[in-house]
Amino acid sequence: MTAPLDLAGLGIGPFNLSLAALLREVPHLETAFFDRKPHFNWHPGMMLPGVRLQTSYLKDLVTGVAPWSPNSFLNYLVQNGRFYAFMNANLPAVSRAEFADYMAWVAQGLNSLHFGRNIDHVDFDGNLFHIHCHGEQRPVLAHNLCLGTGKTPSLPESCRPWQGDDCFHNMELTLRQPDVSGQHVTVVGGGQSGAEVVLSLLQGDWGTPECIHWLSRRSNFEPLDETPFTNEYFTPGYVDTFHGLEEAQRLTRVNHQKLASDGISTDTLNALYQRLYEHRVTGGPSPRVVLQPERTLEAVAGPAPYALTARNELNGHHEQTTTNRLILCTGFDTQLPGYLSQPLRQGLETDDHGELRLGHHFEATWDGPLNRHIYAVNAGRHSHGIAEPQMSLMCWRSARIINHLAGERLFPVTEGIRLVDWDGTETATAPEAEPASLAALIHNTL
Ligand SMILES: Cc1cc2nc3c(=O)[nH]c(=O)nc-3n(C[C@H](O)[C@H](O)[C@H](O)COP(=O)(O)OP(=O)(O)OC[C@H]3O[C@@H](n4cnc5c(N)ncnc54)[C@H](O)[C@@H]3O)c2cc1C
Repeated sequence: MTAPLDLAGLGIGPFNLSLAALLREVPHLETAFFDRKPHFNWHPGMMLPGVRLQTSYLKDLVTGVAPWSPNSFLNYLVQNGRFYAFMNANLPAVSRAEFADYMAWVAQGLNSLHFGRNIDHVDFDGNLFHIHCHGEQRPVLAHNLCLGTGKTPSLPESCRPWQGDDCFHNMELTLRQPDVSGQHVTVVGGGQSGAEVVLSLLQGDWGTPECIHWLSRRSNFEPLDETPFTNEYFTPGYVDTFHGLEEAQRLTRVNHQKLASDGISTDTLNALYQRLYEHRVTGGPSPRVVLQPERTLEAVAGPAPYALTARNELNGHHEQTTTNRLILCTGFDTQLPGYLSQPLRQGLETDDHGELRLGHHFEATWDGPLNRHIYAVNAGRHSHGIAEPQMSLMCWRSARIINHLAGERLFPVTEGIRLVDWDGTETATAPEAEPASLAALIHNTL
């Protein structure tokens, strides 16, 4: 790989995989993607028994902008001889294991992906980006980048000194396979991951604990809002309107919209409540289950068994418990990737919260030449809104990036129909004409 790439994708999670899957249809762009994992693997540490996707399978890597692509979930079903059985199964949602297998199937068919490449550092020589991977003698050279290395697990300050076998982030759970038999286990965090971990513990997936203790700062175990008008936040029209707002307005709105992406799915809440009920009615003495919303974990004295102090936000009391294990379902931090070297790093504009300032096409604002771009995926919650960390619009975002990179509209990125008039555009206005179709593009390049 000696000639500079048009684009180097850093990280191969679902979001850059979507970009790579669509770029397969644009052969005149030279692109390559790099990941430190030996092969594609989607959040293996949270592949708990029975967990399901929170998004429709139609919101896959490509379908929203290129339904003709061979990399669709439906084509995966057909090629694996499961289309009719899948339809007959009438599943409430696809399992995360099946969706992960779909993405791995796509990854296997793309020769632009390079696994086993740990990106050490990236610098810029004024013209080209140099991507240095661990153990590789020569850097990969590229005109443009797409940062897709995901988010960093967030740990409460009080837990950091105790990280290890007995105190860890939920993203490590199934990799650690803990035996919790007879133990007091505390789960911290009241989002979807916290609920899935508690359900898994209740099902005895890791042995029968003596006690399951669930702490959450939230005012209740709150549902994901999947109703139609809330789902408008996950449409191109809303995202474009959101991006055009003043920064302060965007931050206020994205904070109000938290439960549109960060609540617990109704299926999980129902399963959890039913399990708890049956356990109370017919279960034995263990595990004892203590559910505590409105609690902020303030102090952890260790080593294990840990003495926990939590503040009850309803009455201000401090409550103490002792626990053998802490499973921290405490979300993720957005940070600039550590591999971005100076002065490249310093030249990137960030907001007051350390998030990249991203333009319309997910390109970072930076002090480099106008014809060199650093795109970023899963990095624009403040610039593009609540849809950013979710898969709902991943292929649309990939299309936006590719169109910008190519300098032409290769994929459709506007929707003709808008049921809510977010930005004052008349709903009756005729849809904007779409560019030449991808099929025509492919035809012309044959
Ligand atoms: C348990 C879980 C379930 C989720 N379920 C859903 C869902 O159902 N629906 C939905 O819409 N969203 C869901 N999400 C949210 C989101 O879709 C996922 O987190 C998604 O994986 C984000 O994709 P990504 O490509 O940004 O990052 P990641 O999946 O985190 O991938 C980043 C990649 O970068 C690589 N990498 C990092 N640093 C380096 C480096 N220095 N060198 C080389 N490679 C590197 C990593 O190995 C990794 O493969 C879920 C999130 C979690 C945590």
